[in-house]
Amino acid sequence: MLLGAKPVSQVYLEGHLGAFINSKLVSDEDTLAALANAEEREAEWTRKSSTIMQCKEIFQEMKEEQNCRIPTPDNCANYPVTVRIEKPNIMKEAKRKVENLYRVRSIQTAGQLHLQGEMLTLLAEEEKDISWKATIFKVPRGVMGWAVRAGTNTLATPDNLARWGRPVDPRCNMDGCSSASTLGHLLSSCAKALDRFKFRHDSVLNHLLQTIMKSKNDQMTVYADLNGWRVNGGTMPPDLVLTEQIPDLVIIDRSDTPAKVVLIELTVPWDSANSFKAAEERKTARYERLAGDLRDKGLTTFNLPLEIGCRGVINKRNHLVLETICNLVKIRGRKKLLASLGRIALLGSYRIWLARHSQKWTGGELIK
Ligand SMILES: [Zn+2]
Repeated sequence: MLLGAKPVSQVYLEGHLGAFINSKLVSDEDTLAALANAEEREAEWTRKSSTIMQCKEIFQEMKEEQNCRIPTPDNCANYPVTVRIEKPNIMKEAKRKVENLYRVRSIQTAGQLHLQGEMLTLLAEEEKDISWKATIFKVPRGVMGWAVRAGTNTLATPDNLARWGRPVDPRCNMDGCSSASTLGHLLSSCAKALDRFKFRHDSVLNHLLQTIMKSKNDQMTVYADLNGWRVNGGTMPPDLVLTEQIPDLVIIDRSDTPAKVVLIELTVPWDSANSFKAAEERKTARYERLAGDLRDKGLTTFNLPLEIGCRGVINKRNHLVLETICNLVKIRGRKKLLASLGRIALLGSYRIWLARHSQKWTGGELIK
């Protein structure tokens, strides 16, 4: 299902079901009798792998659900004509049934395949708002293949290589780190790679900042924890409130009374429901006091932790966070912003992946 490519078995079942329904609708009596024979024979199979029985079950469901009209010689005046008219709808419904069957299956499989599944489960849960496909189609071809393999955790990471029976050291390559070198470790949790994670984080942050700067009104002041964007070494102007904390992005909008203050703290975590949740809770708690102090001063305050997954996934909650930011700053093109933030996180992770054998990191200019 990933990338919209159908599994071979789905295409196979789709084809069989089409042929099955077709013969049920238009066959002469001999064919129908042969079909009934095959059904009878295969109904006795103990392993539930008979395609004919599967087709029969689906067709039966279709009759009961009545999402389309299935003609019989008894329920219409001119059977052959009705069949000709209704067949395209029937086939469409059949295809939809198979698709649904596979969707449910792929969610179940994703849940079982713990190692590969975290992100697929997340994507399946977020199905409606999925912007990930849009994101990966925006990266260069080589990176796209990498992204799909990163998404299914099938890259040649040291831990996977070891699992596949290759003689490799499954530990992290970084000096002073002896953790197992999983993809999650490489991309989001190695304590010796913080400079790399900062580079990716700052690239995403900078894009958000630049987008805000293009749309903001004259009454808005914006500070960011990036070179050239700080005030007094931090991001909170001391005349507003004194704090040692440095949220990643602070927007002060004086066009309203009382003024609005938006605190944004960005994390680029491992894309799984658990890490998203953990980051959100940690960051919400971190700025609760600061937000409280601002509210005590009569300012309308938004405390917005934002997570963009390191493999480019943006879940529903973060869609809403970005929507809130877009509404506050009057940014148009929210979808474009979403896709760009996901793309930059993904490209950053790709750079980190390429540098995995090197102790040195030269990030250079932020990714745009
Ligand atoms: Zn490490």
